[in-house]
Amino acid sequence: MNEKKKILIVEDEKNIANLLAFNLMQNGYDFDIASDGEMGLKKALAGDHDLILLDLMLPKMDGFEVCKKLREKKTTPVIIVTAREEEVDKILGFDIGADDYVTKPFSINVLMARIKANIRRYANEVIEKPTPEQSEEQKIVIRDMVIDPEKYLVTNKGTPISLTKKEYELLAYLASNRNKPFTREELLEQVWGYEDFYGDIRTVDVTIRRLREKLELDPSRPEYLMTKRGVGYYIS
Ligand code: CA
Repeated sequence: MNEKKKILIVEDEKNIANLLAFNLMQNGYDFDIASDGEMGLKKALAGDHDLILLDLMLPKMDGFEVCKKLREKKTTPVIIVTAREEEVDKILGFDIGADDYVTKPFSINVLMARIKANIRRYANEVIEKPTPEQSEEQKIVIRDMVIDPEKYLVTNKGTPISLTKKEYELLAYLASNRNKPFTREELLEQVWGYEDFYGDIRTVDVTIRRLREKLELDPSRPEYLMTKRGVGYYIS
């Protein structure tokens, strides 16, 4: 089981690709490099990588496209490496299927912690998939909202709500601990799998905002996803 994990680096800037490769090696990972989007997608589809580090601005095919096309076939965890802060919203909002992101310039320690957390979480998901018998009784009903963990489905007044994976997981976590407020840090740890300060709390805020836009009648006056001043978020 102690087989080396293999990371695919999709990055056109040689310096960054080399820096990533060097640090992955130092941390006991194997790596593979693709220097444009087309090659990245090809390698990602053909290989058995444990995680993909994906740049957004790439020749031939951009990172958004690579991620979307990959998700049609595979669930390999993807961490987007982006140079631009303002793209964070786009990454989290569009359902391109990315699991996480870091912005350049990034700290190697943070990146390594994220890689580890994402690989670990992915491995747990595969193992912990509940059997249908176990999850039969687990539907969560809060007024007009129904969360069905078996189908990964959320409906509001009977209408299915289209959520990204993380939006779903955050909502389900809060709903199964109804009325209990969580800090952003706690949510990063419980829902995203990050420890200590390695996560970015804005990720939580953005995801909450998206959820409100999708679920609430009036997102500025939420009835489900509440803010507990000075603490964090909860579901009422
Ligand atoms: Ca680039």
